[in-house]
Amino acid sequence: MDTQKKQGSIGVTTENIFPVIKKFLYSDHEIFLRELVSNAIDATQKLKTLSSFGEYKGELGEMKVSVRVDKEAGTLTVSDHGIGMTADDVEKYINQIAFSGAEEFLEKYKDTANSIIGHFGLGFYSAFMVAKKVEINSLSYKEGAQAVHWECDGSPVYTLGPGERAERGTDIVLHIDDDAKEFLDQARVDLLLRKYCRFLPVPVESDGKVVNDTEPAWTKKPSELTDEDYLKFYRELYPGQEDPLFWIHLNVDYPFTLTGILYFPKIKNNFEITKNRIQLYCNQVFVTDSVEGVVPEFMMLLQGVIDSPDIPLNVSRSYLQADSAVKKISGYITKKVSGRLEEIFKADRADYESKWDDIRLFIEYGMLTDDKFRDAAMKFVLLKDTEGKYFTLEEYRKLIETAQTDSAGDVVYLYTTDPTAQYNYITAATDRGYGVLVMDGQLDSHFVGMLESKLEKSRFVRVDSDTMDNLIPKADRKDAGLGALERDVLTSVFRSQIPNVEKAEFVVMFESLGSGDAPVTVTQNEYMRRMKEMAAMQPGMSFYGQLPDSYSLVVNVDHPLVTRVRTEAMSALGSGLEPDFKAMTEVQAKADKIRSEAVDGKLTDEQQAESAAAEKTVGEMRTRISDAASGYASGQPLVRQLVDLSLLSSGLLRGKELSDFVKRSVSLL
Ligand code: ADP
Repeated sequence: MDTQKKQGSIGVTTENIFPVIKKFLYSDHEIFLRELVSNAIDATQKLKTLSSFGEYKGELGEMKVSVRVDKEAGTLTVSDHGIGMTADDVEKYINQIAFSGAEEFLEKYKDTANSIIGHFGLGFYSAFMVAKKVEINSLSYKEGAQAVHWECDGSPVYTLGPGERAERGTDIVLHIDDDAKEFLDQARVDLLLRKYCRFLPVPVESDGKVVNDTEPAWTKKPSELTDEDYLKFYRELYPGQEDPLFWIHLNVDYPFTLTGILYFPKIKNNFEITKNRIQLYCNQVFVTDSVEGVVPEFMMLLQGVIDSPDIPLNVSRSYLQADSAVKKISGYITKKVSGRLEEIFKADRADYESKWDDIRLFIEYGMLTDDKFRDAAMKFVLLKDTEGKYFTLEEYRKLIETAQTDSAGDVVYLYTTDPTAQYNYITAATDRGYGVLVMDGQLDSHFVGMLESKLEKSRFVRVDSDTMDNLIPKADRKDAGLGALERDVLTSVFRSQIPNVEKAEFVVMFESLGSGDAPVTVTQNEYMRRMKEMAAMQPGMSFYGQLPDSYSLVVNVDHPLVTRVRTEAMSALGSGLEPDFKAMTEVQAKADKIRSEAVDGKLTDEQQAESAAAEKTVGEMRTRISDAASGYASGQPLVRQLVDLSLLSSGLLRGKELSDFVKRSVSLL
């Protein structure tokens, strides 16, 4: 083709792609700079490649890219010393946009337009998002090439003709549109260069300074890097942050290409999924810092850089997650991360333990959300006991197996969620030689459930969820040995003395626990508590969360003080209540008999009336017995004192009840 000035129409299937570009790519106007600088870098790299193959024999000279703003002229220019373009090249690469149906395509994928640019040869045209006119001045590296000038004002009509550029390379001159004046602001441009071009492989100069690090750590071989290099790069990426605990250098070239460095930051106890921390690059060009879909969710807790030309950017996130290449990438990263953790664990156990509290959230989160990671992590996840010792799952099981296997053959893992509040229960357990694990992390209620489902014949129970004997039941329970009336009377005696505790409900139970155990203990049922905890974390289940906590007030009939209460209560009330109790039992038996005569579950009207009357009588008698017992108990400070003591040691005695208790204790002394 000759380089006579000529006019033509840009080869898109629709008449005007530019309004479309402007309209749909509105939110991402700034990426034009990334596209133009990337093109300049590509042109530079291509020439270097040609030169290294001996296909270009001239001087390379200083191969940098420069970005200049000229406020007065209203232009932004991106220049390079790369391969340049001949008129033929411009015709081929610029005038005939690389794909047809551009408008339809953009219409369909307008939400992901950012990613489409660049992938379909629209990169150059993104200049029209901010420019009313674009000029190209170029001189190809080819011998005898003539300089070309191309110009287009945003309509599909362009002019192409001889140019004036004397040096090899290309200038792209953008005449910035009135509504995009911000891109004439040097500070704004520098900020964009910092965001998108920070690690480009060719020096990029703006305002007289080079803005990029052309050889970021992830592009080097791990063997070339010292710990200090990794830390330096981390500080460059995340200035002002505490140094990371450790890092992983990713490097794979088959079946996909991926490099990068992932850092483990110290994850503080307050659980926040820190999004947008890993940065995604494509051949050193920044693409995004939202990597959902590319890495498993729990990896979002990590920081660092992933660089891969194989991640399809031209698709929606949901498609990304289903993409098999991405799945492979995600699987690879998971494997690398678990492999590295295992390596550190094996190489220096003490060091690993010292970092455990900071990485635990990450590991637990990973184990809860990613099956492959969980399977790998079963080897290096640690449990911490109340003495601050760390164990692997296998070590801990071996340790407790003998002492903590219950009569059903299940190994019972005792744990505390709050070593201070549950101190009494912990001591009771450790006094018996049991181990108690500390499970006070935000994810631990889920984590415990997960371990239970994965470890064979295992059960986790919180130390305060039952009496010591029942936590790890060894043989059949010893009966408390109370008579029916005795049980009714003592239940009322103790229940009537339980003070009002906000959002708590108590059931009185009797157990034979030996004279050495506490007279009265408060326990909280493991199952009910977990239901509530789980519900609290699930939206729409808040109903459970509002239910009161249910506790058991366990009275140890073997304790001498309880024996005293029992003997005294029965001698004060027994003979008086005996006839009532006998009568009640008889009426109850009658009511039961009527109901057993029902045909097909139906009673005759007469039977119904009779049974209702009997039930009513029973209810009244029961109330009389319980009133008598309660009345009696209110004159017995010992009962109240025993109940309060048990509440006190489980942290449930508060406010007025606590101060009453203190006063009563003083007067008893
Ligand atoms: P892509 O870069 O994805 O191919 P672009 O629309 O950005 O799509 O560019 C189209 C083509 O124009 C490039 O492939 C390249 O051949 C040519 N080109 C663009 N900018 C330059 C430049 N600065 N130097 C040399 N060639 C360029």
